[in-house]
Amino acid sequence: PVPVLAVVGRPNVGKSTLVNRIIGRREAVVEDVPGVTRDRVSYDAEWAGKRFTIQDTGGWEPSAKGLQQSVARQAELAMNTADAIVVVVDATVGATATDEAVARVLRRSKTPVILVANKVDDQKLEAEAAALWSLGLGEPFSVSATHGRGTGDLLDKILEAL
Ligand code: GDP
Ligand code: MG
Repeated sequence: PVPVLAVVGRPNVGKSTLVNRIIGRREAVVEDVPGVTRDRVSYDAEWAGKRFTIQDTGGWEPSAKGLQQSVARQAELAMNTADAIVVVVDATVGATATDEAVARVLRRSKTPVILVANKVDDQKLEAEAAALWSLGLGEPFSVSATHGRGTGDLLDKILEAL
């Protein structure tokens, strides 16, 4: 069976952009308006000759409370169904209450969790990425999903976890 990588995190952090970068196609739905990605969508991916399935997540309710619960539920689901989890945070915004809620769920995950600090488009944002150590999910892995910065190293790390 092909291992499954789940990509979780609150809306607008760049999950679908990262998924597109990893699958090398512009297929996952990327929107400036949060809320367009369907609940969970799976794609075939390959890196360094290893195949895996990548699951993009979305599907949240409009209210702030509903949103937090919805994203946390996706994280729970990922813990039970995936072989590794990438949790994406927007380094330019920092850890929000929703990010904290997701981190709280994932800190007790037995499934390997990789913390991605996205939107680190240049070196100047590395300090913001480092601040995400506060989430208690280990080392923040800084990438820019739009520019591809750091995504090769991230994929190497993902393969180690799968
Ligand atoms: P999702 O809701 O988590 O799936 O986020 P999307 O992938 O739809 O992206 C939300 C917004 O963030 C879009 O406007 C993207 O173009 C933007 N975005 C995603 N990744 C990056 C990045 O690495 N750098 C910058 N500057 N913007 C990004
Ligand atoms: Mg999306």
